[in-house]
This record gives sequence, C-alpha cells and structure tokens, in this order.
Amino acid sequence: VIDIQHLSKSYGSHEVLKDIDFSVKKGEVVCIIGSSGSGKSTLLRCINLLEKPSGGQIIYHGENILDHKHDIHAYRTKLGMVFQQFNLFNNHNVLSNCVVGQVKVLKRSKEEAETVAKKFLKVVGMDQYVNAKSKQLSGGQKQRVAIARALSMEPDVMLFDEPTSALDPEMVGEVLKVMKELAETGLTMLIVTHEMEFAREVSDRVVFMDKGVIVEDGSPEQIFNNPTHERTKAFLKRTI
Ligand code: ATP
Ligand code: MG
Repeated sequence: VIDIQHLSKSYGSHEVLKDIDFSVKKGEVVCIIGSSGSGKSTLLRCINLLEKPSGGQIIYHGENILDHKHDIHAYRTKLGMVFQQFNLFNNHNVLSNCVVGQVKVLKRSKEEAETVAKKFLKVVGMDQYVNAKSKQLSGGQKQRVAIARALSMEPDVMLFDEPTSALDPEMVGEVLKVMKELAETGLTMLIVTHEMEFAREVSDRVVFMDKGVIVEDGSPEQIFNNPTHERTKAFLKRTI
C-alpha cells in the first residue's frame, strides 16, 4: 500500500531519519520497535504528513505523494491515526467523536455517519457508551473510542503511535485485545509499540529502528529469536 524510499527528516542540523526504505503491503501488520528518540514517531508523522519529510519519496498506489501536484488531503483521509494521548474531543460524547470527521471530511450525512460509527464502536466494545462524555471514560475506554473514530473514516492503513503507553497497566490489555482482533480481520496496520509480547504475537513483520535508521526488518521469529545485528540484540536484552 505504502512504499517509502530514501526518506529523510532533519530538524535543523539534527538528522532524525536517515535514508529510510520501508513498505507496508495490504493486510500486513507491521510493528516498529526501538529505543526512545530513535525516530519511530517521526517516521509515522512523516508517513501521514503531520511532518514534512526533508527528502525521499512516499509512494502510495503507485504515485509519489510528495510531488507538488499530488492531492495530499485525499491521501491523508486514507490513513487512520491513533495517538498515545487519544486526542478525543472532551466536550463531545462518544458517538459524536466518531461522527464529526466523517461528516466534515467525508461529507457523509449525519445518519450514515452514525450508523458507521456505531458499527465500529461495537467492534471496539464501546457501543454501550455512545452517549457518554469522553471525560467520563477510563483511559482504556478513551483509546478504544479513538480507535473506533479512526476506523469510522474507513482508512486504507491504520497508524498507531504507542497506543498503550499512556494507560494504567490494568487497561493495556483491553486495548491490545481490540488491536489484535483488528489485525486478524486483515486490516493494514503500522504500530509503534513497546509491548514486545504483543509485537511478537500479532506482527507479520517487525522493524527495529535505532538512531534514525532501520537496523533490521524481519519476521517476529527472526527479530526476537534470531536478531542479526548487535544493536537489535542489545535493545532486546534491555527490554525483554
Ligand atoms: P519515543 O520512544 O520516546 O517516542 P521516538 O522513537 O518516537 O521516541 P521521535 O519522537 O521520532 O523518537 O524523535 C526522534 C528525534 O527527533 C529525537 O531526538 C527528538 O528529540 C527529535 N525531534 C522530534 N520532534 C522534533 C521537533 N519537532 N523538533 C526538533 N526535534 C525533534
Ligand atoms: Mg515516539
């Protein structure tokens, strides 16, 4: 679906991403792991153009979306994003959180948007809470609503940036469970995570990043059981 070639990103003289080559195929679940500051979030933010890459190409359905003539807006609606901090609208209820984007961006009618939203709220197990205000929810519930909101836009690819890192430990499981179920439906997912057990179980591929480069990209068995690079070995030793 997405093919990234020679992607780089600098902040001033600090080169945060260096010559990244990487792709995600339809239906693939790819986890990105690596230590703090290695550039994982920046990579996701470049992919969905929250940050402007300094160089390289992002090929989506055969076209370089960094070409000036390309319709960036249409591309961005095809990517769903789930953040560490949920970013729900606190003054809206659960249903409305999942409806506004569909009405504004996809120009769906309110009725259609509500039907779609309810379908995905059911998928994440939050259909009993449609009328709750988001500030009344637990962190795990908020994150499940954030996932339903992103799914309601019916994206081609879902990007997750440490979706469980801001949660109390007892709520991590419910969010990972939803993500695991989504992975099994064939959704294309790109997930930055520190949950190694989850990455091992759900990924088709695991990518290890360090200091702005992709050090290793392979099957979960290969990365976790048989890493080839010293840096991967050292990282896994620290985290597992
Ligand atoms: P973490 O696991 O802590 O989330 P990360 O792998 O997601 O780390 P990034 O957030 O991508 O890492 O950051 C990579 C590097 O880029 C860091 O050195 C960070 O300080 C730097 N950086 C990120 N965003 C900016 C910015 N807006 N301006 C300047 N430097 C930035
Ligand atoms: Mg990050």
